[in-house]
Amino acid sequence: MGVHPLLFDLGRSRPTTRDVADAVRRGGTAALTEADRRADAARYQEVSCRSALNRVKGMPFEWTLNPYRGCTHGCHYCYARRYHAQFEMDADDEFASVILVKTNIVSVLAKELGRPAWGGDYVAVGTATDCYQPIEGHYRLTRGLIETLHAHRNRFGVVTKGPMIVRDRDVLAAASAGAGCTVYMSVPTVDEDAWEQLEPGTAPPLQRLRAVRELVDAGIDAGVLMAPIVPAFSSSRSKIERTIKTIADHGARFVGCNVMHLEAGTRSHFMGFLEREFPSLVPRYERLYVRKYAPKEYRERIQGLVRLLQDAHGISPRRREEAGAETPAPSEPIEQAVFRWS
Ligand code: SF4
Repeated sequence: MGVHPLLFDLGRSRPTTRDVADAVRRGGTAALTEADRRADAARYQEVSCRSALNRVKGMPFEWTLNPYRGCTHGCHYCYARRYHAQFEMDADDEFASVILVKTNIVSVLAKELGRPAWGGDYVAVGTATDCYQPIEGHYRLTRGLIETLHAHRNRFGVVTKGPMIVRDRDVLAAASAGAGCTVYMSVPTVDEDAWEQLEPGTAPPLQRLRAVRELVDAGIDAGVLMAPIVPAFSSSRSKIERTIKTIADHGARFVGCNVMHLEAGTRSHFMGFLEREFPSLVPRYERLYVRKYAPKEYRERIQGLVRLLQDAHGISPRRREEAGAETPAPSEPIEQAVFRWS
């Protein structure tokens, strides 16, 4: 793929994300005239980033890495939808169809990890995009990032819904034997209807679980996040039980869960999706999501059920402790445990 400058005065250098935001503010995404439209109908705009590591607050980790912005998986509940607004794009269709590609992120990361001031903190990869969405097959940026982290003996975790991650099991296995890494495969449910309704661009859940098995067999600390469990779509006892049993059958080393939350751009997108596709659910959602989170009692009921079923199927957090992996203490709420990266 060649260089794709925008059609305004940016010369041959790639625009920054700020340039893209300015262009879109002036002319909408139609201004990205040189964004590359690929077979998946999404448009890919190459950009230059000034920094790779992004510091975050209020999470169980401090540093994140996201080689792409936007995600063609297009999950309706995705909390990262709201981040597209930072680039003046909408959290609906544009989140899944206009993807920013940080082509220089690997070299920028190498410089950042080499700085004397860098303390070697844990790094979470893929927190605001799916770092193994299909375009990774072309750019291989995620592979470059984890190779660089491994070369610097820096611990990291990867979260994804993309079975493509097995392509990189050589690097992940080497990192596991070195400073350490963990793979969090996101499989909110194995229910096919809920999958098709909520995650239109993702690989089937069983394909993701087969990837987990391959990673575990390669010696990698890989488990599953049922994140998020979505009320009325994947929250019934039978669906949760079938999902946990299937996760256990595929050898996952741990499982965690959370219940969907709705904020800012994600809320408007999700409610619009319900109004179009499942209007009868709208009143229930309006009652359940008066605030960002579903009521505490509801979340605790789901989390309690998951904990019970984890134990029943031998995949409780205790099993990780026995295996020597780092794990939350059994008394910690599972929701807190989901993104325990270090
Ligand atoms: S795969 Fe992850 S980042 Fe992509 S749309 Fe789904 S939840 Fe969002």
